[in-house]
Formats: sequence, structure tokens, C-alpha cells
Amino acid sequence: MEIVFSKYLISSPSIVNCPPADRPEIAFIGRSNVGKSSLINMICNFANLAKISSAPGKTQMINHFEIVNENKKNWYLVDLPGFGFAKVSIRQRRKWEKMIEEYLCKRENLANIFILIDSRHSPQQIDLDFINKLGGWNVPFALVFTKTDKSTQSIVSKNIKDFFMEMKKNWEEIPPYFITSSVKRTGRRELLEYIGKICSEE
Ligand code: GDP
Repeated sequence: MEIVFSKYLISSPSIVNCPPADRPEIAFIGRSNVGKSSLINMICNFANLAKISSAPGKTQMINHFEIVNENKKNWYLVDLPGFGFAKVSIRQRRKWEKMIEEYLCKRENLANIFILIDSRHSPQQIDLDFINKLGGWNVPFALVFTKTDKSTQSIVSKNIKDFFMEMKKNWEEIPPYFITSSVKRTGRRELLEYIGKICSEE
């Protein structure tokens, strides 16, 4: 699969403002600084596409992008606000949680969410907590390990193995996962194949 067109559409403060749920939707989420914008830009072959979502006022919004595949299949890419910002108040955090939960539980065309994990670190509780919540909400997801060019292969492998060991405390099966580097463009083909398959099934 290849993307032939990508365009920023709209930023919505809640699910009611989102565009009509008329095509498959693939969302991306992760801790701030995990490499989400870089990954979205890399996937779409568009240098500054996801910059729009990090513009002032848009960081706490549900950001929709219109995407067209080479086979003319349309889908929405959604850049969700990151979690784990050091400097947010409890009130802001609750607001974020409510918006994300509502979006993930109620958005009827949501076909998959990618959870981004920084491959340089050992398992982080904040990522595991988020994944455990997804289980309760019954949302289909896959993991994307980012920035793999920044460590040696053995560190990346160890961190991924440790992450799954932690997940196994709560999960029977390991979810689909992708090993990526936006700098080296690693994992792009695999991610696009996966997205293409999901979109054609919807
Ligand atoms: P976001 O906050 O999750 O959207 O993260 P960004 O995409 O803005 O990336 C945060 C920082 O990590 C930036 O300085 C990026 O240049 C860097 N970065 C992101 N992805 C990669 C990667 O795959 N490899 C390397 N070496 N740096 C990356």
C-alpha cells in the first residue's frame, strides 16, 4: 500500500465535533516526545504534516487528517494528544482522560489505534497503564516501538522483550507490533501494509 494524498482536515475538542464517521479511522497516541509527529510525517511522506497538531491550541485536540491510498481508498488518520506531559494540572489531565475515553469508546469508525512506545527505555508504567485501560474499552490496537536508530539492536530487543513480559501480567496475547525509526524510515512498509489491510476490511 502507498499513500498518494494526505491533508490536515480539522482539530476537534470532542467527539461531537469530529468529521462524519464515513470511512475507516486509524489513530496514533503515545507519551509526549515519543516521536509521534515524526512517525506520522514519515508514514505520509509529508515533511511537516503533523506539525499542525502541535500548533498552539491544537495539542489537546483530536486532529483529523484525510488520507487517500493508491487504490483510491479513503481513510482518516487521527493524531491524538499525547499523555505524560510533566506540567499539566490534575484538571487538565482529567479533561484529557475524559476526551480520550469518549473518543476511543464511541468513535464508531475507529478501526485501530497505534500506541507508540519509545524503544530506548525499559517498560514505563504510564504506557502499560494506558494499554490496560484499552483492554477494558475493547479497542483494537497495535504497538509501535519508535526511535530504534537511537540504541543498539540488542537494547531495543531487550526493551521490547521486557515490555511484553510486563504486558503478560495482564494480557494473554501479544498484540501486533512494529519496530520503527522515522530517521531511517524503518518499519514504514510494514505499517502501511497493516493499515492497508485494516482499511480494506472495514
Ligand atoms: P512527538 O512529541 O511525539 O510528536 O515527538 P516528535 O516527533 O516531535 O519527536 C520528538 C523528538 O524526537 C524530536 O527531536 C525528533 O526529531 C526526535 N525523533 C523522533 N523520531 C525519531 C527517530 O525515529 N529517530 C531519532 N533519532 N529521533 C527521532
